[in-house]
Amino acid sequence: MVQTPEERKRKAKDRNLRARYGVTLEQFEAILEAQGNICPVCEESGKVMCLDHNHKTLKVRGVICLNCNLRVVGGARDQDHKLVNAARYVTSNPADLVFPEGIYLEKNPPKKRRKRRAVSRRRIN
Ligand SMILES: [Zn+2]
Repeated sequence: MVQTPEERKRKAKDRNLRARYGVTLEQFEAILEAQGNICPVCEESGKVMCLDHNHKTLKVRGVICLNCNLRVVGGARDQDHKLVNAARYVTSNPADLVFPEGIYLEKNPPKKRRKRRAVSRRRIN
C-alpha cells in the first residue's frame, strides 16, 4: 500500500496529537470544523493550527493558529482575565477620557540620532 504525501502527513499529525495530547486527528479536525475552519482569534484560515488547552486544567479550549497560540493567547499565560482586559482596553481607548479628540502619533517620527561614540585613535603597542 503506497501512501500519498498528504496521507503520510495526516498520519504523522495524528501520531503527534495522540502522543502529545491523547487527541486524535479526527477530534482535532472536528473542533476545527465546528469553528468554521478558521482560527477563532485572528479569524484566518490556511495557517499552521495548534490544539490549544488550559495549562492548569488541561482542558482543550479549541484549535487556534500558531501565531495566536504563541503571541496572543499564549502571551496571557493562562490568565484569561488578561485577554478580557486587553480586549476591553483596545476597544475603550482610555486616553480618550482625558483627550476626547484623541492623540495621534506621527506616522514617521524623526528617528533619534545616536550620539557617536568617540573612537580612540590611540594604538596599543
Ligand atoms: Zn490566529
